[in-house]
Parts: sequence; structure tokens; C-alpha cells
Amino acid sequence: MCGIVCYIGKQEATPILMEGLKRLEYRGYDSAGIAVSDGDETFLVKEVGKVRNLEEKVQALSPHGTMGIAHTRWATHGRPTVENAHPQTGETEKIFLVHNGIIENYRFLKDDLEEKGHTFKSQTDTEVLVHLIEEYYDGDLEKAVKEALGLVQGTFGIALFHRDNPDKIVLARRGSPLILGIGENEFLAASDVNALIRYTNKVVHLNDNELAVLNHTNYHITDFQDRKVTREMETIEWDQGAAEKKGFEHFMLKEIFEQPECVKNALRGRIVEGEGVPRLGGLEGVLDRLKSIEKVHFVSCGTSYYAGLLARYIFEKLTDLSVEVEYASEFRYRNLRIDERTAILAISQSGETADTLAAVREARRKGALCLGLVNVVGSTISKETDAGVYNHAGPEIGVASTKVFLSQCVVLTLMALLIGRYQRLSLTDGLLVTRALKELPDHINKVLKQADYIQDIARQYAKYNDFLFIGRLYNFPIAMEGALKLKEISYVHAEGYAAGEMKHGPISLIEPNFPTVAILPRDSTYSKMISNIQQIKARDGHVIAVAVEGDDHIQSHVDHVISVPHTIDIIQPLINTIPLQLFAYYIAKERGCSIDKPRNLAKSVTVE
Ligand code: GLU
Repeated sequence: MCGIVCYIGKQEATPILMEGLKRLEYRGYDSAGIAVSDGDETFLVKEVGKVRNLEEKVQALSPHGTMGIAHTRWATHGRPTVENAHPQTGETEKIFLVHNGIIENYRFLKDDLEEKGHTFKSQTDTEVLVHLIEEYYDGDLEKAVKEALGLVQGTFGIALFHRDNPDKIVLARRGSPLILGIGENEFLAASDVNALIRYTNKVVHLNDNELAVLNHTNYHITDFQDRKVTREMETIEWDQGAAEKKGFEHFMLKEIFEQPECVKNALRGRIVEGEGVPRLGGLEGVLDRLKSIEKVHFVSCGTSYYAGLLARYIFEKLTDLSVEVEYASEFRYRNLRIDERTAILAISQSGETADTLAAVREARRKGALCLGLVNVVGSTISKETDAGVYNHAGPEIGVASTKVFLSQCVVLTLMALLIGRYQRLSLTDGLLVTRALKELPDHINKVLKQADYIQDIARQYAKYNDFLFIGRLYNFPIAMEGALKLKEISYVHAEGYAAGEMKHGPISLIEPNFPTVAILPRDSTYSKMISNIQQIKARDGHVIAVAVEGDDHIQSHVDHVISVPHTIDIIQPLINTIPLQLFAYYIAKERGCSIDKPRNLAKSVTVE
């Protein structure tokens, strides 16, 4: 998920590695570290927080040598501490390894290694991998790596070296990128071309299930079955900014396009095949208590609040719990009846949102079970709650949340499914949900393919200063989220409404300069939505509809239709949200707004 840089050649490695780490900073991370070898001695330096904190430690220690590996960590297993930062070492502290990704079966492997006498210094899944390689090492590092990786489930991009043979760096990947940089008698490698480009523009991409060895004068690649791989070198001409954004114009657009992957990450290792029930490790410790809970309050702010609003409908469909959704900033002032049969679920991307944290503390005081859903591992909310689940959505840089919102909706659905399956939800219904979740990445990809079409519509609507977004049932929260996205990044006034409320107020605003975005999948609310649209058209309002593929009826009622793939009712809103993100993005772009850093807004709101 985060960053790797490696160097082996004739120059001092440390400045090159530190420079590379700085070039990876844009990705978001929580700690960093380097290991450098001069052939005799190996220097290991790690620090929590920014690369500049590491730099201070590095300056004090002056590690020297012409080879080394470096890492920025975005914690997934274990809090951001010096012990958990990479490079990780094994039992004998001879192997130094950096890792991006997640070892899904780390618990199983760790238990086995502990039985064999290994002791662990960190909470990371990564350390398990180093011990496993060590277990197989008999003087041949590549062989040990291949054998160990044969037992690993999950995703990895790794780089490592052995203190006894400091003339080579071994790299391997499955599902997490690694690129080799080819210089004149020097070689680099990184998880992102951005960290190499200053030193060389000649690169070779490593593919999944391949291993590369770099030494001071050469490199070679094999697959995990030891077959030699020959791959053409590519010459890249990327400017710095474009490289950071992987060629996307803005982080927000990149993050919108990362959503299929993000859904996969939220589901990875969490679906028990054939049982229609998820495995959420973070909730296992409180499962018994959860079974006695009668009421749950979702507390959150902004986009996370809308994820909670949607989850209320999903929980009501799948479980017997009664659910309330509350702005965290209001929750603390209410005189709510909270006891040991009540749970609160704090939803926050950063895990630092001050209002949400205050709500957690208030609920804890009253004896509620406190749960968290956060993206940033080791964040305050993750520490102050009794149990919780991580999004594993990777760093989100655009201030307006897109991929984390979607990931929250996915994980909340998993939570509802878990609780529901312990209550009345049948295996058949459980399987319907897990199947729909697994199909979600493909459905999202189909919507993303329509980006140009959505941009075209956005161009026609960019001149308007007011918008109404309407939906019913599962799509009412999506209407609110669509309006919020537009507001946040394009500074356009937009209101999200439950369509049934239109005639109780907002219909008075409708006129030719006040367009409406209507979300109407083919569910039980469809005909009522059509009536709402007719009322708008009768007042000369323009309407853009988000409807499902195959709905031939809708075209005659509205000005524009964005068609999205069809799925079960509770998952449909997750697909419907994608065109609204793209619509907001392209309107903001058309209006020349600062998309990634909208005025007056901050990514992590740590003030109340
Ligand atoms: N899963 C590893 C950890 O938590 C690596 C995280 C990363 O990709 O930065 O340490």
C-alpha cells in the first residue's frame, strides 16, 4: 500500500533512499525507515511520523554504504510505532525486509513459527514473512524467498537483503507494484516510478509472481518457478506531478478510479465462501456482547455520516437491531438512553475526527459498547474503541472523500451481514449479499468507463449555481452525498433531499435554472420517483437521471440518463454513487476549482 525504495551501485545509498522516500510522501504514511549496508556493518534507522523525523535520526547516525532499502509504512497490522515500522528483521536480525501489502494468513503462519521457537518484536504481518524466509534460509536467499512466498496468502511487494551477503537485493511481488530502475552500473527499485525518475528513466516492470535480484553490476528476473524472465526496458517521460497522480489530473479522480480495487481490499479475506457470512477479525473479541445488543447508534460527520445513513437502511434490512444515525457533533448534547445493550459505531476516515472522538468518549462514559470503523490504523478512535474494523482503503489524499466513502459502505454492509446471520437472516439471503459484493468491482468499472459521457453532461450543467439531488430509500443518503460532493469541490449550492419531501418545500425552488439529479433504480420506489420527476418537468426543471441499464422507460421523462449496472437493492446505492462523484468532479473542473484542496476544508478535522 505504501512506499518502497532500494538502491545498489557505486554511490552512497542513504541520500538516494531519503530522496526517494520524500518523493513517496504524497501517498500518505505513518512511519518510515531505512537499512543500509557497507558490506561489513548494517545500519537500521526507523522513526514514527514524517520522513523529516527519520532524516534527523539518519543525520545523527550517518549510515553509510552503497546498498540499502527504505520504506514508508501505512499501517495495516499494528499501530504506527518504531517497532512496527519497516525494515523488519527476523530472529537472528540478519535479514532486513520492507513490505507493501497485507499477508492475510499471517496469524496462522505466526502460530506455526512461534511453535518452532520464533519470537516476534512487532505486531506486523510483515515480520511473520521475515521469520518465514529465515526458516527456509540455508545460504540461498532467492530459494528461501520463493519457498516462503509459496505459503503466503495476500498481497505483497517486498525488498530484502541478508547481512551475510550484502551484495544483492531480492525483490518479489504479487498484487503490489514494484519497478526496477536501470542506471549505469547502479540499480534502483521502487513501488512507484516517482521515486526513481530523478536517477534514471529506464525502467523494467516486475509482474505478479516474479522475483528480481539486483547486485552492484547486474540484475535478473525469474518467476516463482525459477524460469528466467526477459523483459524489454522501457523509457519513461513523466513529469513529477503526473507520476504522483499516476497520470490522473487530480488525486480525487485517481481515487475515484481506484474504487474497484478499494472494494476488493475491503472484502479481502473477509468472505467465508459458501456460508454467506463475513469474517471480521476486529469484531471477534466482542461477538458475544454484540449478540446481546438491541440498539446501535452510528456517529460520524460529513461523508461518513451519509455512509451511516445508508447503513441504517441496510442494517434494518439484514438485522433485528434498531439503528439511529447521529451527527457526532450533536450526539454529545443529546439526552439519549444508552446502556450496556447499546452499541455506538464511530465512523471516521482519519480516526481523528474530534467530534466523533468526543462522541465515543461520551458513549463510553454511559457504558455503551464502542465500535469503530476507520481507515487509518493506530488512529485515536481505533485505540479508544472496544473493537472495530479497518477499511484498508489506502491513503486518501483528495479532501473530498470518494473511495473511503465507498469502502465504508462496503464494510458497514459486511457488519450488518455478520450480525444478521447470527439473527434471522437466511443462508440464501446471506449468499445473495456476498455475491453482489463480489460483483461490485466489475459493476463500478462499467460506470467508470462512462467518464467521458458524464464529463459531457457536466459541461452542459457547469453554469448552474443551484442543484437538487433526490432519491428514496437506499438512494436518499446517496442523493445527500452527491449534493455534498458537488458543494465541497465546486462551491455550487446543492441540496440532497428525500424525494417524498419535495412537495413539502423544495419544489418551490424549481425553475429552468435549478436542475435536479434524480437517482431511481428499479426498486419499490421507482413509480413514485417518476411522479417526482414529472412534477419537476411540469415546472420546466431540467432532470438528469441515474437509472439502471435496461430501463428504456426513463429516457422519455428526463433530459439526460446515466445508466448503471443493476444489482440487489441494498448494494445498488454503492454503484449509484460513482456517477455522482464523477459529475461533481467534472463540474468542479469545468469551473476551474481547486479540486484536491477545496477552500476552507481540511482532510482530517481535528477541531470541534
Ligand atoms: N501490512 C504491513 C504493515 O502493516 C505493510 C503496510 C504497508 O503497505 O505500508 O506493516
